[in-house]
Amino acid sequence: MNEKIKVKVHNLIKTFGDNQVLKGINLEVHDNEVVVVIGPSGSGKSTFLRNLNRLEAPTSGSIVIDDMDIADPKANINKIRENIGMVFQHFNLFSNLSVSENIMLAPVELKKASKEKAAAQAKKLLAQVGLESKYNATVQSLSGGQQQRVAIARALAMNPDVMLFDEPTSALDPEMVGDVLAVMKQLAKQGMTMIVVTHEMGFAKEVADRVVFVEDGNIQEQGTPDEIFNHPKDPRLQSFLDKVL
Ligand code: ADP
Ligand code: MG
Repeated sequence: MNEKIKVKVHNLIKTFGDNQVLKGINLEVHDNEVVVVIGPSGSGKSTFLRNLNRLEAPTSGSIVIDDMDIADPKANINKIRENIGMVFQHFNLFSNLSVSENIMLAPVELKKASKEKAAAQAKKLLAQVGLESKYNATVQSLSGGQQQRVAIARALAMNPDVMLFDEPTSALDPEMVGDVLAVMKQLAKQGMTMIVVTHEMGFAKEVADRVVFVEDGNIQEQGTPDEIFNHPKDPRLQSFLDKVL
């Protein structure tokens, strides 16, 4: 981990109608840091990530990523999304495109990369996620775990500064979870700044620099994996861990 602050969230509030889902989140993420977000279903974890790349617009507060306040309504949303990769529970690949076309689409369309350059990069990224042989494959021919690794490669194709993962293994058959987590672990090792929502406590213990416990729209406790898993203080965290460990 590095001293430089990459993501700085200050007093982030998100309201849907009269439902205040995020109640004033404060979080700083350093360059190269891996932050794992845990917490019960409905606590606001996905809403938090979706605000970080402006899939949702914050109700109030500020989100500064690489010195750019993305909560500012005047912010350039496309520029923001280029710098922040996101991987979803349900992959969201384009099923009418091949594996390589999925990876090349954004660099060619948004960054005006040449087809040749994008193709070479797609090849490299597929090797990185262990799927070199699937370059021309259709999306439908892949297993869920393979599709999720393509989704990671697709996000990486934009050379993001930060990667967000929202329960990337929750929709997978158990035997495929390990391959996806291994790719994420490798990415962390290479120094990627990552915010990962997951129920994979083994991954959190092994890979996280910091674990953040969200409940009821607030960060109730945060610390090192040792602090959070071995010495939890907040009774809500203790009871959450009793259920998931
Ligand atoms: P988690 O990811 O921790 O399970 P979510 O962020 O998905 O939690 O949801 C938190 C709360 O926000 C839930 O009560 C959910 O119904 C509500 N919510 C999320 N997205 C929307 C939306 N687009 N419109 C209205 N309510 C939403
Ligand atoms: Mg969620």
